[in-house]
Amino acid sequence: MNFSHDTELTLRAACVLINSDRVDGDHLADLASLDDYLNDFGWTGRRDRDAAELAAVHGLRRRLGELWATAGDEEAVVGQVNALLIDNRAMPWLTRHPENPEWHLHLAADQDPLVQRMGAEMAMALADLIRAGELRRLKTCAASDCTAVLIDLSRNRSRIFCDTGNCGNRQHVAAYRERRARES
Ligand SMILES: [Zn+2]
Ligand SMILES: [Zn+2]
Repeated sequence: MNFSHDTELTLRAACVLINSDRVDGDHLADLASLDDYLNDFGWTGRRDRDAAELAAVHGLRRRLGELWATAGDEEAVVGQVNALLIDNRAMPWLTRHPENPEWHLHLAADQDPLVQRMGAEMAMALADLIRAGELRRLKTCAASDCTAVLIDLSRNRSRIFCDTGNCGNRQHVAAYRERRARES
C-alpha cells in the first residue's frame, strides 16, 4: 500500500504528537520542545511561540488520541475526521518548499494559526487512509503496559508494537523468560 509521501509524513507526525505524553511524561510540555517537534517534521508557516499556541496543540493531541482510540469504528472516525476538517476550515492548495521539496498539499494558509494547519493536514491524511479502506493501519501498541499509538505502513500490516521505546524487544524478552520458567 502506497500513500503519498505527505500523507505518510503527516500520519507519522500525528503519531509522534499523540505519543508525546504517553511514554515517560510529557515531551511537549514547553515551547522549545514544540519547536523541536515542528522542525523535525518540517512544519512551515506561522508560529506564535506562546502559551496559547502550546495549549491549542495539546488540545489537538487529545483530540487525535481520542480518534485513534475509536479506530475500530469506521463511522465514528469518519465523523471525527469531518469535524476536524470543518473546525479547521481545510482549504487544500499545492506547494513545495525547502523543508519538503516535492509537491504536496497544505490545508490552510501559512498565516493561519499553527493548530489549524496541523489539524487540517492531519485530518486530510486520515481522510486518505479512510478512502483507501486502510483505517486498520491506525493501531495502539500491543504491549500490555504501553498506550502509545502507531501508524502501520508496512506492506502486510504486520506491525503491532510502537516505536517509542523497545516494546517489541521487551515483549520478546518477557515471552522468553516465561517459556524458560515453564520449562525449568
Ligand atoms: Zn509543506
Ligand atoms: Zn509501545
